[in-house]
Amino acid sequence: MKPGDILSYLEMCQEEGASLQRGMNFRLRPGHSVVLMSLRAGSPYDDSMLESGRVLIYEGHDISKSPKGPDPKSVDQPLENTNGRPTENGKFWAAAKSREMGGTAERVRVYEKIKAGIWAYNGTFDLVSANLKASNGRRVVRFRMELSAEDGPAPIQQLALKHERMIPSRVKQDVWKRDEGKCVICGDQKNLHFDHEIPFAKGGSSLVAENVRLLCAKHNLAKSDKIE
Ligand SMILES: [Zn+2]
Repeated sequence: MKPGDILSYLEMCQEEGASLQRGMNFRLRPGHSVVLMSLRAGSPYDDSMLESGRVLIYEGHDISKSPKGPDPKSVDQPLENTNGRPTENGKFWAAAKSREMGGTAERVRVYEKIKAGIWAYNGTFDLVSANLKASNGRRVVRFRMELSAEDGPAPIQQLALKHERMIPSRVKQDVWKRDEGKCVICGDQKNLHFDHEIPFAKGGSSLVAENVRLLCAKHNLAKSDKIE
């Protein structure tokens, strides 16, 4: 799996070996955590990308909604449950604080929702810091993650990572719509990937839809062979 790969919900769960039901999944597997994000208009959390996709600001989760409870958007995001155990916020918080003190960064795989049932893998990020922020009269948790230098062992992936950036959500959604969820060459709807027509390394921009297209695995591979 490499950044830009597009997966169905089921494929994403298979990839992680778990049924993913919530946004934050601390240490889902030995060695990494998983977060799901949505930058679509109207999404419930205020996540954002900085520095052309190398830095991710990820908002913690709210309390869960209950029939008699308060509006989750009106109360502080919890670091602990009522029983004193850390919430997912609390676990990510502890890992971020450990990193701030010089510890090893927690590796976090980031998936982003493109539309219902369709997800893009954005890569592995290092959880580097966390802070609390006042927002509309309550406290929210903000996590800072940076694109990891070690996204997989293959040297070619290292190379690609150095030059590729995460494609902004708006662009991903425009491209998905324009290319109708199909490889632009063969029309295949499986194993799709967001492809930079002109590679980032060669000056291609990931910031505009004109330079990004959908390719199936076969055609994406055929292309990288040509470039390397
Ligand atoms: Zn194709």
